[in-house]
Amino acid sequence: MSAPEEVTQRLQHMRASIVERKQKLARHVEHREEPLPQDFAEQAVEMENDETMVALERELTAELKDIDLALARLQKGTYGSCVTCGEDIHPDRLKALPAASMCIRCASAA
Ligand SMILES: [Zn+2]
Repeated sequence: MSAPEEVTQRLQHMRASIVERKQKLARHVEHREEPLPQDFAEQAVEMENDETMVALERELTAELKDIDLALARLQKGTYGSCVTCGEDIHPDRLKALPAASMCIRCASAA
């Protein structure tokens, strides 16, 4: 496994980019205080976008939470162990998903 400092840095980078995306999304949502379009078809499209944005916002919030938890585990020295079964998470998995909290077995069972 890569050094904890390296992982911390990577996670912090990921965190910063997610925070930035969340801020952009929030700004976009704020702009939508403007009156709804008159045309119903346009309204439907707008609503669809709302749902997409809500879903995206939820996804980013979940990612952020995972990253924060991973950073907390790094500080506690429990990073890299599965939170469910306590087994080591495969290094390849951590490389692909630095915020992973579960081993592949537990993750696929969840
Ligand atoms: Zn596990």
